[in-house]
Amino acid sequence: MTPALACAFALLATPAAVRPAALTAAERAAAREIRAELLRAHIRYLADDLLEGRGPATRGDRLAQAYIATQMEALGLEPGGPGGSWFQPFDIVGVTSQAPETVTVSRGADKVDLRFRDDYVAFSGVQGPLAAAEGAEVLFVGYGIVAPEYGWDDYKGVDLKGKVLLLMNNDPEDDPALFAGKTRLYYGRWDYKYEMAAKLGAAGALIIHTTPSAGYPWQVVQTSWTGEQFHLPHEGGPVVPVKGWVTEESARKIARLGGQELDALRAAAQKKDFRPVPLGVRVSIALQNEVKKKQTANVIGRLPGRDAVLSHQAVIYTAHHDHLGVKEGAKPGQDAIYNGAKDNASGVAALLAIAKAMTALSPAPRRTILFAAVAAEEQGLLGSKYFAAHPTLPAGRLAANINIDGINNIGRTRDLTMIGLGKSSLDDWVKRLAAMQNRRVVPDQFPDKGFFYRSDQFPLAKIGVPAAYFDDGTDVIGKPAGWGKAQADKYEAEDYHQPSDELRPDWDFSGAVEDVQLFFYLGLKVANETALPTWKPGDEFEAARKKALAELK
Ligand SMILES: [Zn+2]
Repeated sequence: MTPALACAFALLATPAAVRPAALTAAERAAAREIRAELLRAHIRYLADDLLEGRGPATRGDRLAQAYIATQMEALGLEPGGPGGSWFQPFDIVGVTSQAPETVTVSRGADKVDLRFRDDYVAFSGVQGPLAAAEGAEVLFVGYGIVAPEYGWDDYKGVDLKGKVLLLMNNDPEDDPALFAGKTRLYYGRWDYKYEMAAKLGAAGALIIHTTPSAGYPWQVVQTSWTGEQFHLPHEGGPVVPVKGWVTEESARKIARLGGQELDALRAAAQKKDFRPVPLGVRVSIALQNEVKKKQTANVIGRLPGRDAVLSHQAVIYTAHHDHLGVKEGAKPGQDAIYNGAKDNASGVAALLAIAKAMTALSPAPRRTILFAAVAAEEQGLLGSKYFAAHPTLPAGRLAANINIDGINNIGRTRDLTMIGLGKSSLDDWVKRLAAMQNRRVVPDQFPDKGFFYRSDQFPLAKIGVPAAYFDDGTDVIGKPAGWGKAQADKYEAEDYHQPSDELRPDWDFSGAVEDVQLFFYLGLKVANETALPTWKPGDEFEAARKKALAELK
């Protein structure tokens, strides 16, 4: 090999010339506690049919909580919840809406019928017996975004009180200078759209589903938004009574009824001069609600830090323990249990395995480590939102959050996906630890799906805590190019939020072990380093961090 070639190979071997992190023998020994069979065993229990899908406030939910708390106790963690308890209980309000089998959109004598589940789903923004939009005018409002920093306002001050908004998911993608190009920002999330509709006093908001703009197929909308929906108790502020989704085909029919073409409307919505378009059609949707107050709980354990000063701060690991429960209306013989093996029995298994490694370490880390298995994530990040509103330590003392929602089950990878790469100083440790594993860190392979805003790190980031969240690598060792990504697509199309998300004999944990060891090392490095991690200057969460730190003084 010529020297020039050797040099080129050396560059290839150490991606981006990152200095690999150094580890002590004790740290490596502790990491070896994270083993395939440990992860598999936790998943086997948590994803068992006996836990009936771990729906919030069910028996399965309580079984999962009890299991996690006893595992934490057995490891020698201390209770990390309020009042010396393992649990941080909180109220949730379950609303089961009876949506009409058929909703009629009309223009004079002409009409379009939408069938529940097939063409539309609707659910209540009201925590009371009735949510309705009666004979409401329908307007197409494009993306429904108001973003002064981009000079963007889809509403242009139009009065939308009592109207039903028909809107697009996602945010404008074509211009890299607007809304981070193809990367989805919070503006592109359905939660944002409904929040805006509520602020504007709309009676209803119907989001047009397309698989690319949602990031998942219609069946996920059907399973996620029908049946009992949970919320934190409403504490005032505006609500939009009727929230819903319509299929793209239904949206086309509604537009056509109003003498418009959906494609032309969507094209117009790509520009800043877009204004809401009255469709000249009306709709009535009335939801009869059954409302029940229930309780669920985050499960929190803590490993006290050894440093007299830094132990007042903590690194917090999170992983949600809930899933979707049992499918309603399943046919006899059909699997009705949402086992949520990958989502997120696997993340809880990882959290417990990391706790095992941390407790095996002597001496203990300098900062305290919190392990929070949070509840009701699938219902809109409720457990992490509750924690963020009632943190067991002030937000400014939370050094970093490492959130785990799904682990790799397809084998070792040359890469590791970091969601939100580029947002905080945590990147540097992640890159150095990956380099130590001879791996490289890649940004979100599906930036259009807005993953940073779809799991429990988001509420923590909102209170300023620098957060790290990952997805599986896709460059799988021993498999052809494209295989890993194909597996990710297959999971999403077939198993994500379906009863088929189950532990199977062909799960390969070798990549998960490596990933989870990296998450362990990351928490450890952050816990031992004197300086606190920071958001990159100008990041959307930097202001919240400054506020949280200022509040400590
Ligand atoms: Zn999840």
